[in-house]
Amino acid sequence: MVDRSLVDEIKRRLNIVDIVRERVPDLKKRGKNYFALCPFHSEKNPSFSVNEELQIYKCFGCGASGDIINFIEKFDRLTFIEAIEKLAEKAGIDIEKFKIDPEYKKKKETALKIHKILTHIYHSLLIKHKSGNTGRIYLKKRSVANSSIQKFKLGWAPAEEDLITKWFISKGFKQAELVEAGISIIKGGKVMDKFRRRVMFPIFDANGNPIAFIGRSVDENTLPKYLNTPETVIYQKGKTVYGLNFAKNEIEKKGFVIVTEGTMNVISSYEIGSENIVAILGTGFTTYQAELLKRYTDNIYFAFDSDSAGRAALLRAAPIALEHEFNVKVIDIPYGKDIDECIKADPKSWIAALNSPSELIEWLITFFKSEIELDTIEGKTKFIKRLKPFILAVKNPIGQELWIKRIGKEIGVGIETIKVYLTEDGTQASDVINPLAKLSTDSIEKYLLGIAVQYWHDLRPTIIETKDVYFSNFPIGRALKKIVNQLKMPVESLRTILDGMGEDERKACQEVALMDIGVKADSLEKTWNSLISRLRVKSIENAIYTLKKMLGEAEKNGDAKSAKEYLSKIQKLEAKLKKGKCNQ
Ligand SMILES: [Zn+2]
Repeated sequence: MVDRSLVDEIKRRLNIVDIVRERVPDLKKRGKNYFALCPFHSEKNPSFSVNEELQIYKCFGCGASGDIINFIEKFDRLTFIEAIEKLAEKAGIDIEKFKIDPEYKKKKETALKIHKILTHIYHSLLIKHKSGNTGRIYLKKRSVANSSIQKFKLGWAPAEEDLITKWFISKGFKQAELVEAGISIIKGGKVMDKFRRRVMFPIFDANGNPIAFIGRSVDENTLPKYLNTPETVIYQKGKTVYGLNFAKNEIEKKGFVIVTEGTMNVISSYEIGSENIVAILGTGFTTYQAELLKRYTDNIYFAFDSDSAGRAALLRAAPIALEHEFNVKVIDIPYGKDIDECIKADPKSWIAALNSPSELIEWLITFFKSEIELDTIEGKTKFIKRLKPFILAVKNPIGQELWIKRIGKEIGVGIETIKVYLTEDGTQASDVINPLAKLSTDSIEKYLLGIAVQYWHDLRPTIIETKDVYFSNFPIGRALKKIVNQLKMPVESLRTILDGMGEDERKACQEVALMDIGVKADSLEKTWNSLISRLRVKSIENAIYTLKKMLGEAEKNGDAKSAKEYLSKIQKLEAKLKKGKCNQ
């Protein structure tokens, strides 16, 4: 946990421009912003931009964006906490003063220590000790190689009730510490070992510290089959990805990560040399896990169990991965119920499947087609509705359009019709699928907002004179309206204006704050005024377009009265339009 005020203090003392320039020396000022070749993807023309006033950066090429802390996380490959520590040190801040709870920190350290020691004990018991014999037999039966036992530090939890607990207490640990670390439990007033007579799989964090265990029972009568460490100060299931500490380099090298369920899948995969694999442990794929993996790759191959639970898990995981802008592929397990079974029976078939994954969209189409009869209108409607959450999760408008096209082709339905279903119940998929997008005032408003956000101080007298213009109801338009109104009152900084905005409006401002306006300071006023008149013209054109449609409807229905009314309105607007264009 990081104290909010520590983050604020870091941002107050350090300037993102300096921090970026230390790492990206060719950073150059152009207009209000700084530009450079992006450090996160290779490019020939600079699309990486830093805005000093808002202390944010964005790459218009690859989409990387964030604040000073996020930049250090990405560039220096650090976790959030590590980035905070590094920047605090640079800013000369005594981080200890900001630690919320020194006791919490101590609890964490103790739990980590316990896990480190216990991993070692379990492992020694398995490989060297007589009591580990049952475990060794079990692993042999499951054909787990000795090299895997070593690498993944598999272990054996002895059958005795409290052997481990007693040992730790003899070394000076307190009962409460053992219970809090999740390795001991209290039962009937007695403290005893949580894991007994089980093969132990330590779970490591991304840095390789053991933070929890999974205990596998060795006979089918002992339930549960898998016993997990409960949530503790150092372990939250949904925030952990099993195997990431081993796989991270290989993920970067291969350019994708295989995400599976269960530790045995990871271990078997390693045994045939396929090491860019991790497992989620019975939680379903979470946002945290997506963020964690995003540090290493943009490409996910899901390889969940081939049963209905596995498919359900995939259907839940896919939108989360799409929302985090992963390219998602799916590997169908060609034999058996999971990767482990498949590799044990027929490793070649697994390699073949791995080499020919399905694009998510293709997998989804095949899957829903197997469930839904597509010959009827009801079937087609249902098909679109089932795919809707996935389409809406695709963030890139072009990508989304391609998905819609592909689905339309499959069921013989036009793109516009599918879009109607997507926007039904008010959800706007994205600006691109607004049928009026071609006529919309998007790009003009975006440019205006960019000027307003970057030059609000210099251009204030001009901006507040803006009138007789309709801004759109999209976040950009709403933000523009708010800035124009706010500037009429005394304003200290852009931040004060942004604080009064909704989340999506603020985002729109941050986005354009990093835009390259490309206008010389002395022609800003002229540009602003000309854009405003163009916007005026656009809104008249839009109104005429709508009225003409209504006129057509009225004529078709023989409604002469309405038709006359529309026509006269159109003529008035056209006259106004002519005048407006002359004034431009
Ligand atoms: Zn980039």
